[in-house]
Amino acid sequence: MQSPAIKTVRQKLQASGELIQLLDEFRRMVNVCIMIGNEHDVSSRMTLSSLAYPHLSREMPGYYRLGAISIAASILHNYRKARKKHALTRFPYAKRLMLTSCYGFKIVSDLLRLPVRPRRYVYFKLNGHTLQVLSGLNVRSVSLTPNAVSLSYSKETAEIEPEGYVGVDRNLDNVTTASTDRTAQTFDLSQATRIKSNYRMVKSQFKRNDTRIRTRVFSKYGEKQRNRVQPLLHNVSKKIVDDAKTKRNGIVMEKLTGMRRLYRRGNGQSRNYRARMNSWSYGELQRQIEYKARWEGLKVIYVPAWNTSKQCSICGYKTLESIHRRLWCPHCGAILDRDENAARNLAARGLRFSPDGPPGEAMVEEREPENATLILKVDGGKLSQQANPSISSTET
Ligand SMILES: [Zn+2]
Repeated sequence: MQSPAIKTVRQKLQASGELIQLLDEFRRMVNVCIMIGNEHDVSSRMTLSSLAYPHLSREMPGYYRLGAISIAASILHNYRKARKKHALTRFPYAKRLMLTSCYGFKIVSDLLRLPVRPRRYVYFKLNGHTLQVLSGLNVRSVSLTPNAVSLSYSKETAEIEPEGYVGVDRNLDNVTTASTDRTAQTFDLSQATRIKSNYRMVKSQFKRNDTRIRTRVFSKYGEKQRNRVQPLLHNVSKKIVDDAKTKRNGIVMEKLTGMRRLYRRGNGQSRNYRARMNSWSYGELQRQIEYKARWEGLKVIYVPAWNTSKQCSICGYKTLESIHRRLWCPHCGAILDRDENAARNLAARGLRFSPDGPPGEAMVEEREPENATLILKVDGGKLSQQANPSISSTET
């Protein structure tokens, strides 16, 4: 048994004046908590609760006060982490209107009832899709913005004992999967790469030098571009999970580390190469695959991806580059598709990492110490932020 799988369904809404007021008050509480937390240099939810709770308005239901504290705690936590890396990180505050609560709301037939003050409620009509998604499931929390409501829901899933593993490898224009049953598949994502690179071009050609307008225009383009890339990623993650479900495979993906910085300037890569490598987010794809897989009870494993693109997936020896994105293994003579080879290595690592996998599968030693830059070029394009399994979004 693993912890419950969580998904979210989102629906548009028009917030009333009363609701906007509530969101505004909630945001204010979050910011009060951030100030208090910073003053006392705490970011733990418990400590922040005891410090901040007495300072929050008693007009607000207790669960909203706790919700605000918990959001402030996670903002403070992220701020601390960011500050460790960049000393100049700006002090955070909650800018957007929003509210999240695990308590107080209720679904009564097709209406969502939400208290705005003690014993004073607003109601939203839930649409057919939302109701259908939620039927029979446990609604855990509600999040509001001025134009949307998101309900997260969960179910307890028993984990399926994997009968094999599928490795998921990311490349510039595709995602390649390879299963321990020897099948492999490639999912084309060149369209996503193109959308992203068009966006970058628009950005670079934008000449106006007014920061405020720039920010506004870019965020509008950014959103448009996300809206176009997201369905492509959803489509791929769904196919991968459906296939794994049919074969009762565990899913193996590479553990993302903070190596994204290595794709920045000064490591011998051209600017365009770096830009393309930082294109659509593999972290986002991982996040989607993970929550969909968990929903189906499939096992998800993250393994270090060191050398997966170089090692021969047949004998473990270090391969040499060949033409047409192929690799040649001087040890066993195999000619391998580079993308598929990496996915195969991931799947094999999943097998090794699982408790009942073969214990002694030998790793052939490297002949020479690896040059870091070389690995990066070969392994290109794999690294972004770690997927966050606790946040999920709705499937479209
Ligand atoms: Zn070989």
